Amino acid sequence: MEIPMDLHSIVHSLIPSLNSVATLLAFFIYLGFAVSILPGKVVPGVILSDGTRLHYRCNGLASLLLLVGLLGFGVVMNFISATVISNRGLELLSATLIFSFLVASVLYVAGSKSRDQGSSLKPHVTGNLIHDWWFGIQLNPKFMSLDIKFFFVRAGMMGWLLINLSVLAKSIQNASLCRSMILYQLFSVIYILDFFFYEEYMTSTWDIIAERLGFMLVFGDLVWIPFTFSIQGWWLLSNKVDLTTAAVIANCFIFLMGYLVFRGANKQKHVFKKNPKMPIWGMPPKVIGGKLLVSGYWGIARHCNYLGDLLLALSLSLPCGTSSPVPYFYPIYLLILLIWRERRDEARCAEKYKEVWAEYCRLVPWRILPYVY
Ligand code: NDP
Repeated sequence: MEIPMDLHSIVHSLIPSLNSVATLLAFFIYLGFAVSILPGKVVPGVILSDGTRLHYRCNGLASLLLLVGLLGFGVVMNFISATVISNRGLELLSATLIFSFLVASVLYVAGSKSRDQGSSLKPHVTGNLIHDWWFGIQLNPKFMSLDIKFFFVRAGMMGWLLINLSVLAKSIQNASLCRSMILYQLFSVIYILDFFFYEEYMTSTWDIIAERLGFMLVFGDLVWIPFTFSIQGWWLLSNKVDLTTAAVIANCFIFLMGYLVFRGANKQKHVFKKNPKMPIWGMPPKVIGGKLLVSGYWGIARHCNYLGDLLLALSLSLPCGTSSPVPYFYPIYLLILLIWRERRDEARCAEKYKEVWAEYCRLVPWRILPYVY
């Protein structure tokens, strides 16, 4: 994002043009259609605190690949410019902010007027907002349910990839493509594709099962994910970094470690919830109270998955070197978010599992990083 220096230019570049509003709307309309009609595995979510269970159609990867294919075709045919996003970064940011504010306000009003005390205030039944309030159409919940929280997080992750691709195109256009940009782009594309490949795992995460659909989630998914996770790419567009080969190898190593821990821990928990007898690292799992896994990563720290994510976040910033704190915004923010999240999750689990949780804390004393925290 090229940040203009004087106040007048900043204000000017923050006012969304018709073009940026159209770009944003086209993206949401495409996504709405794609996730509604493309085939995908329908997975049952976890049973929620009110006893209900939503079903999720996991077709995010198909929707993303089709979108990238269509955009690539559009670029090759000269219908659109590959740098359309990187040329209008601030405008798109402000358009997304306004859009998110409108969406969050509508959800809040719809929720507070709903029959059962407000669906949008009630954390889990977000899909019913569409059914009950917007269209009044009763869809078969198993096959046609659209969970807005699931939709938003997918929009955020896709938006991040689209921004990155456009930033990459800009750096090629500027003849400034360097090792740092390639590393950042490579790590992020693996992270994003992995998210969609395993999107089924998302259905049992905190955001889906325990977070209210309100301003925080809407802004977090639609604005925060695409625009702050891509800061490193924007920064590299206007800053040159010379990475040594040793730095590149060390960076790849941190990414790989982070990936193994992040994906391994989340996968172990997900598989355990589906089949509590499935071996972990080749051995029968150790379980307490029949509900909590104490084997594998979950026997090393109570939130090893957060440790993996933090290493990944660090590895996405390290390509930018150490000359500025700006590219480290994402890992620093994630550290604060995940420590806060971990505290809230612990409180929830302590209440839900009572003495079983106390026993788990005794057996696994470390929260995120063994011997440190
Ligand atoms: P988790 O996936 O860690 O889920 C926590 C839940 O898992 C608990 O509430 C409990 O739920 C269950 N659980 C906890 N311990 C155990 C155990 N030992 N055995 C079995 N079940 C257990 O939480 P999040 O949704 O916060 O994180 C998911 C991933 O998303 C993480 O890797 C995280 O790093 C990432 N993330 C990334 C963010 C980003 O901005 N990049 C933001 C937030 C998360 P139950 O009631 O079902 O038992």
